[in-house]
This record gives sequence, structure tokens and C-alpha cells, in this order.
Amino acid sequence: MPVIEELPAVKFERVGMHSHIKGLGLDENGKAKFIGDGMVGQVKAREAAGIAVKLIKQGKLAGKGILLVGPTGSGKTAIAMGIAKELGEDVPFVQISGSEIYSAEVKKTEFLKQALRRAIGVRISEERKVYEGMVERIEIKRTRHPFNPYIEIPESVKITLKTKDDEKTLRAGREIAYQLLELGIEEGDVIQIDAETGRVSRVGTTKEEEGLFFRKKVELPTGPVLKVKEFTYTVTLHDLDVVNARAGGIFSLLFGGGMEINDEIRERVDQTVKQWIEEGKATLVPGVLFIDECHMLDIEAFSFLARAMENELAPILILATNRGMTKIRGTDIEAPHGIPLDMLDRLLIINTEPYKKEEIREIVKIRAKEEGIELSDEALEYLAELGEKTSLRYAVQLLAPASIIAGGKRVEKEHVEKAKEYFADVKRSIAFVEKLEGMLR
Ligand code: ATP
Repeated sequence: MPVIEELPAVKFERVGMHSHIKGLGLDENGKAKFIGDGMVGQVKAREAAGIAVKLIKQGKLAGKGILLVGPTGSGKTAIAMGIAKELGEDVPFVQISGSEIYSAEVKKTEFLKQALRRAIGVRISEERKVYEGMVERIEIKRTRHPFNPYIEIPESVKITLKTKDDEKTLRAGREIAYQLLELGIEEGDVIQIDAETGRVSRVGTTKEEEGLFFRKKVELPTGPVLKVKEFTYTVTLHDLDVVNARAGGIFSLLFGGGMEINDEIRERVDQTVKQWIEEGKATLVPGVLFIDECHMLDIEAFSFLARAMENELAPILILATNRGMTKIRGTDIEAPHGIPLDMLDRLLIINTEPYKKEEIREIVKIRAKEEGIELSDEALEYLAELGEKTSLRYAVQLLAPASIIAGGKRVEKEHVEKAKEYFADVKRSIAFVEKLEGMLR
């Protein structure tokens, strides 16, 4: 069986914390509901973001970007994520922080190039021949291991697949037997086997009682067992660059981590993608590149980004900062938000305001549900108060430790109090160091 390299699916980076956000929560007139799509409060900013989404969809934001300005923990990341979600389910969302460009591994511009290309999806549609059906019977024939007579290994497999209208018995080699064992395929499961590559995947199970927790319940398929199916998946330009760079040799494989990708490879990928688009095999899915703490970018990085925004293959750029007037890094020039004026001219600015207690309460409630943590009313109220005094982020962060202290059971106020004793918020931890310094003086 040929070894095939599977393209990685689009990865949404470090969004675990924002996994509850499904959109901007706006009604058909673009008005924000107090709670909607997992979003709470921040009404004006969300409505502004909604208008930006309309502009993006009409292509009127080409060459321009969005700047979110507000204090730390006022939902800038959440809103950027909401914008990406509004643009579509498989729209890539890439989050980096301005300071990350100074990584020792790759050059600043290389880091930005990769981030930009991770934020552009390519939706590929393909017709493939597959065997699809419910597993009626599996018989795995075993043989002795060639070097170790005490071990038996699969040699071949006979498998009967059934649909409502058809039935086929297939015989296949060791590679497919291994895949069936690895996936834990049982009778009653519905599977697909790629007729060309032999790749096996599980669709679900038709069985009633089986742990539906990890097996989706599905109907018995219809039609012939061997059929042509259309598959759609989204990869990013960066995924394609990496796969092509790897094909380039062992060197890039060994140093894959902080790999610099040669521009020639990028050009080749762009050409191929353009050809796929012309042939109707693929469509482009521009995503969102979100750069938090953008005041940490330097003048070089800004001019690189300004140029990149002109490119026809550019993602939507969303910058965020909590700074007012500050020096543009790499210069002595003061500028609003530390952003060069020519860049600032291209940005639509949206302000986010600090959260009120009611908003914090609702966000904590949503996060607790998302993390599968049960909270007593008193604990919730206490967290909302804490969040107001310290920060929303701190209140949300206390959920997981409080749940551990509660032994995985319902979290009460006392558990939150304990968690608060163990883990400091930023203000408290600064006060702690300052007090120590005072004592030493
Ligand atoms: P910023 O980017 O401004 O620093 P953030 O979006 O990262 O803020 P956090 O302080 O990290 O916000 O927020 C803690 C948690 O609250 C995260 O899970 C975030 O998704 C969520 N959150 C923040 N704002 C909202 C909102 N308006 N609605 C729903 N959830 C929110």
C-alpha cells in the first residue's frame, strides 16, 4: 500500500480559551444581543465588528485592516475570533503576539510570512472512489512475526461491507488490517476505505448501545458499496508550503521546527493553487491574522505588513493594543498606539471597554459550562465580584483550579476562595514583590 502523507487540517491556534465563541451574536439588523453566539456585552464593539464583517464580505476592506484598542482583558481576542467565525466555519484564525516576531529561530519577516500564509485557507474539493458501508464481518488472518516466533501479527483481512442496497466482501493486506485494529473497528461500525490509497476512516456506528460518547450514531448507508464521493477539506497555504518543503529533502525534515521556507517553494505553491482555482478544484478562503500587542512590532515589521496587505493573497489583518501614545519600536518617533501613520491610516479602529459585573458573571457562567464545571450561585456571584475587582481573565482562570479543589464536584464559594489563596492575580502579585523589595531596602 503506498504511504501517503495526509495534509494537516486547519489548526485554530490557542483558541481553547475562546472555544465558546461562535460568532458576534448580532441580529438581522446588526444589533448585538446582550448574549449571543457565546458573546456577552461589549455591545458597541460587537456591532462595529459586524459592520467590518459586512465590508470584508463586500471586498471593501481590501488593503485595509482593523485595530482593536482597549485595556487588557476587555475581549479584543474574543471579538477578533467572533469576526473570523462570522466569515465562515472553516475560515482560518491565526493568533500571534507582537513580541513573537523576535523569536531566535527564524527571521522576523519569515515569521510574519508564515503567519500570513497560515491565515489563508484553500478549500479543496475532490472526487474519490471509496468503499463505504457497515462492517458486517471482519476476519483477520494472522501469521508469525518473521523475527520473533512468539508474536503473531496480522497478515491479511477479509471484510464484508453492507449498505441498504448492496454488499461486498473485500480482501486486503496487512496495512488495512493494522488500520482496522488501530481504529478499533467493530462489526456495526460504518467505515470508508479509500479505493486508491487504502486509507480507512470511521464514519460512525449503527449500533444502539455502543458508547456513543466517542462513536457517532449513523444510519446504514444507501447505494452501492463502491462509489465516487466528493470530499471537501480546507488546508492553509502554509500547510502546502510545509508539505512541499519536506518533499525537498531530509534537511528540512530534520530542522522542521523553526524551518525557513524558501520563497521559490511559496511561489510554486501559489502557482499550483491558482491553477486549481482556475480548474474549479479549489477556492480561496482568506482568514484572519490577529496580532495582539501590536505595539511590540517594530517599524520593519509594520512596513512588511503594509506591503503584504496589498497582495492579492492577503488575509484580513486585525491588530490589537492597550497602549495610547507610544514610541514606534525601532525609532524615536511617538505615534498613536505605537503604529506608523501610514499603517494607522489603513485601519478601522474599534474600542473595547472594561467589563461590568453583569457581563463578567455571564461570561464566567458560559466558560464554566464550556469547561464542564458546575457552579453554585454563590460561587458564581463571588467570581463575578472578583472579576470586577481584578480582571475577567483572573475570574475565568480560577474556574479550573477551583474545580480541582472541589474534587471535580460542584464548585462552592469556599473552593473559589481556596483557589484565590493559591493563585494570585497580577495586581496582588506585583504588590507582593513590591512589599518584599520594601523590606529589603
Ligand atoms: P484581550 O484580548 O482584550 O486581552 P481577551 O479577549 O483575551 O481580552 P480575556 O481576558 O482573555 O479576553 O478573557 C477571558 C475569557 O473571557 C476568554 O475565555 C474570552 O474568550 C472570554 N471573553 C472575553 N470577552 C468576552 C465576551 N465579550 N463575551 C464572551 N466571552 C468573552
